[in-house]
Amino acid sequence: MKSHYQILIVGGGNAGLSVAGQLLNRNPSLDIAILEPSDRHYYQPGWTLVGGGTFDINNTVRAEADFIPDQAEWIQDSAAGFKPDNNMVITGSGKEILYDFMVVCAGIQLDWSLIKGLPETLGRNGVCSNYSFDTASYTYECLRNFKGGKALFTQPSSLIKCGAAPQKIMYLAADNLRKRGLLRDSEITFYTGKPGLLRVPEINRALLDIAGRYGIHLSFRSELVEIRGESKEAVFAITKDESTEQKTVPYDMIHVAPPMSAPDFIKDSPLALKDDPQGWVDIDGETLQHNQFSNIFSLGDVASTGDTKTGAAVHKQAPVLVSNLLAVLKNKTSSAVTKYDGYTACPITTGYGSLLLAEFDHNNTLMPTFPLDPTKERYSMWLLIKYAMPWLYWNRILRGKS
Ligand SMILES: Cc1cc2nc3c(=O)[nH]c(=O)nc-3n(C[C@H](O)[C@H](O)[C@H](O)COP(=O)(O)OP(=O)(O)OC[C@H]3O[C@@H](n4cnc5c(N)ncnc54)[C@H](O)[C@@H]3O)c2cc1C
Repeated sequence: MKSHYQILIVGGGNAGLSVAGQLLNRNPSLDIAILEPSDRHYYQPGWTLVGGGTFDINNTVRAEADFIPDQAEWIQDSAAGFKPDNNMVITGSGKEILYDFMVVCAGIQLDWSLIKGLPETLGRNGVCSNYSFDTASYTYECLRNFKGGKALFTQPSSLIKCGAAPQKIMYLAADNLRKRGLLRDSEITFYTGKPGLLRVPEINRALLDIAGRYGIHLSFRSELVEIRGESKEAVFAITKDESTEQKTVPYDMIHVAPPMSAPDFIKDSPLALKDDPQGWVDIDGETLQHNQFSNIFSLGDVASTGDTKTGAAVHKQAPVLVSNLLAVLKNKTSSAVTKYDGYTACPITTGYGSLLLAEFDHNNTLMPTFPLDPTKERYSMWLLIKYAMPWLYWNRILRGKS
């Protein structure tokens, strides 16, 4: 390992590998290192289908080594702190790495412990979550063992990755129960900290209809605060007309999307947005360049681009970041000019064989890729997400070819 690199990429996930591949495709002589502790890489969108029992969990994980570009160096260590005035990263093992340019894309932190009782009972007592490799399979186990009763699905009010994932598994579960003739004996409730189902009005309306079709009860501005695994009870803080009350709800199964934030080592660093409890990396939302340090860029879940934390957003952000970083590197100026338009996408599974592809921007304006009504559920989109996307991810996106 050297002590200095031209470009240091912190995080070798969806964003880090895409950027490394695209940079090297444009200029193979760049001196790039990827700082990434994990020897496994996950295709996280696959976990929704794993939880629904229609995708093999083993197809969502591969060796990280297989995706590090030949021309880049993999430093298998973690970032623990930043000294941006000295262009330095301090690693978990205590090493100091210097860089000319840095790309920060260390993903999001799952704050399980913010829900009282959740870490102790997750993966047992009917408490499941598609938000990690270790627990996604248990979602389907809960669903398979469910013979009617109360099924709860939760979403926090905070920004999370793939903001529609808590609903996707709920519609799959409802369809599963419908097919097994159990829907009428089941009470499904969505407790969400948000005021609606999705921030785009046209899609929100379509989702309200879909939830109605399954007889799903909706409880808005409802934050999960505690789970009592042994007695199978969940406690919610429900806000109505400016006042908040706690409600204890019994359940037979509960799918939890935990609160999320930037990883602590980012939150506590000079790179984070000031006075933001979630601590995202403080970048210009269009150029993806840091607002204080012009040789630092960021993208993906950890960046302060707002409610756009998806792989689909990474796909649009990566080429923008690469163009801007190369322009700054080449011209030795501090100005980045190519702009990210705030695109993000939520492929919402609404049943087995049906999917609503919601694509939109910062302003909640629909941005459909296909000339089709984006508020309609389609079998073709289900095929796209189930078969085409995993192939594209492993073979093109992570290689910087798409
Ligand atoms: C259940 C679920 C469903 C989803 N569905 C979709 C979907 O349908 N469509 C979609 O577009 N997106 C979806 N997503 C979101 C998508 O997976 C993420 O938005 C995407 O992976 C973000 O890429 P990233 O590189 O920012 O983060 P990640 O891919 O999570 O990568 C972050 C990397 O940083 C590394 N890291 C962590 N700590 C450190 C450290 N200290 N130092 C260095 N490296 C570190 C991690 O090991 C990891 O490799 C889904 C996610 C989940 C969980």
